[in-house]
Amino acid sequence: MSDLRPIEVLIPADSIQRRVAELAAEIHHDLPDGVHLVAVLKGAFIFMADLVRSLEGRVSLDFMAVSSYAKGTTSSGEVRMLKDLDHALDGKDVIIVEDIVDTGVTLAYLKEILRARNPRTLRTACLISKPSRRQLDVPVEYIGFRIEDRFVVGYGLDYAEQYRNLPHIAVVG
Ligand code: 5GP
Repeated sequence: MSDLRPIEVLIPADSIQRRVAELAAEIHHDLPDGVHLVAVLKGAFIFMADLVRSLEGRVSLDFMAVSSYAKGTTSSGEVRMLKDLDHALDGKDVIIVEDIVDTGVTLAYLKEILRARNPRTLRTACLISKPSRRQLDVPVEYIGFRIEDRFVVGYGLDYAEQYRNLPHIAVVG
């Protein structure tokens, strides 16, 4: 387990850049008056940085941190809040910016706690979805890429805190 390494490029850097720009255009089309982005650390930090630079109009942002995978490549099924938001969500058009929706457990948890803070709307943008792994049927409005059940790294995503710096998404093996 400890010697897993990136072995295959699954999504090249230029494909990611193109798709993020498309997602930003979709978001701006749906919410032309502006959005408040909430990124989930750490995995979504690069997706957030690229998305925010592609978005036109009024954009504010905030970060929160949760932990669902203590270590390794399988979900523990438990979500813990590690860092809460700095700003209130009342009346805002909020978009949760997630790296991966896998079982859906993390996103369901986030939606529940953020909805309780009375945003005007609450949507989700995720870079990657693994539909075959879903345990909870949680809607995701903006999906970058749908992939098979593979553990991936790069573009912010880690394995044991490594490989976040890769510009592409790679499969480990
Ligand atoms: P879920 O709660 O949907 O099962 O898991 C969501 C979180 O698990 C993601 O936000 C991500 O941090 C982590 N995760 C799920 N699949 C992968 C993967 O293939 N690679 C990495 N690096 N993290 C993953």
